[in-house]
Amino acid sequence: MSIEDKVMAVEKAFGALKALGRDPTRLEFDEVISPTEATLEGRRTILLGTNNYLGMTFDADCVAEAKAAIDRFGTGTTGSRIANGTYELHKSLERRVADFYGKKCAVVFSTGYAANLGAISALAQRGDYLLIDADSHASIYDACRLSDAEVIRFRHNNPDDLAKKLARLKGKPGDKLIVTEGIYSMLGDTAPLAEIAAVKREYGAYLMVDEAHSLGTLGEKGRGLCEQAGVEADCDYIVGTFSKSVGTVGGFCVSDHEGVEILRSISRPYMFTASLPPAVIAAARQSFDQIEANPQLREQLWRNARTFYDGLEALGFELGPEVSPVVAVKLSGKEVAVRFWNALIEAGVYTNIAIPPSTPGALSLLRSSISAAHSREQIATALDIFAQVGAEMELIPASKADRRR
Ligand code: PMP
Repeated sequence: MSIEDKVMAVEKAFGALKALGRDPTRLEFDEVISPTEATLEGRRTILLGTNNYLGMTFDADCVAEAKAAIDRFGTGTTGSRIANGTYELHKSLERRVADFYGKKCAVVFSTGYAANLGAISALAQRGDYLLIDADSHASIYDACRLSDAEVIRFRHNNPDDLAKKLARLKGKPGDKLIVTEGIYSMLGDTAPLAEIAAVKREYGAYLMVDEAHSLGTLGEKGRGLCEQAGVEADCDYIVGTFSKSVGTVGGFCVSDHEGVEILRSISRPYMFTASLPPAVIAAARQSFDQIEANPQLREQLWRNARTFYDGLEALGFELGPEVSPVVAVKLSGKEVAVRFWNALIEAGVYTNIAIPPSTPGALSLLRSSISAAHSREQIATALDIFAQVGAEMELIPASKADRRR
């Protein structure tokens, strides 16, 4: 197929949805005012789609550390870790992340996407087996494509199916890597990690957990679902991102297995891309201090998440299965989702639209991410707007929306 044919095919596929309103892939904020508010098309807008779970992007200490790092070390490293791109700063961030998790080793990547790509593809090689949850993030699927291991999907959050698949495999001890997430990014549900860890032990497999959405949001110390589920000792590798609770950009893999250091020699997404710039490292390091020292941020996040989830449920929306910082409204199809997303923007609320093929079970979703930085008023206003727009679009009964007036 020629490039022109491909362009036409893509435009055709997206054209019908774009005709319903804005192009979700090209939305531009005029100005971001705070972790929870922006101006969009000249309107003040409540941000409900940023993954900024702890509001760390505007934290005064993180901002100050980032500014000081620019003054001292410049704006970028202009190189990859294996060339000119490793500074003492990178090593200090790796030590900070390892200490935070109480693990021996940490390897930092330029994004969370690169961390999954780099860790999974380098740890699982030809002759190995990768067992991944069917609802895994795109970065995990892409890592499978980069790895030469045999890839086996197990049913979402289903330890029995995982055990069944493992029981069929031959192979040697240590040649199987199970990959799950903590909080799943689309529906906000959590993995049954205690059961998955039991299966891992029974079959002598390694376990990797992507805590992208659970770092900072779960666990007494904010270490994520592994901490909350009491399975940190069973979790061989934790990967995560600095782009959500940490409030900047970057990714990491931590482990007690010293062998994780081989990533520095063989992981292409580690070796062949520029390393994190000084300001980002300084902000991330400071952010880990805040996450550890401020459990009240997590408490506030969960209070907000519960208020928002319960409020939408009372209005009659169909939601993801559990209260979570990720709150997904299930809709009847792509067109409805696009219309609802557009109407909410016009009423002053920004959410994320998620439609097939990038959603589990081909669901059409409006996905909100809640922040500790949302005020009670912002959560209440957002619920009022969901009520009003939802009733106008006949997605919920008018009588339920009336109760919020
Ligand atoms: N893993 C999961 C589960 C994610 O949701 C994301 C980002 N949405 C990533 C990895 C990639 O993180 P980053 O944006 O830092 O590349």
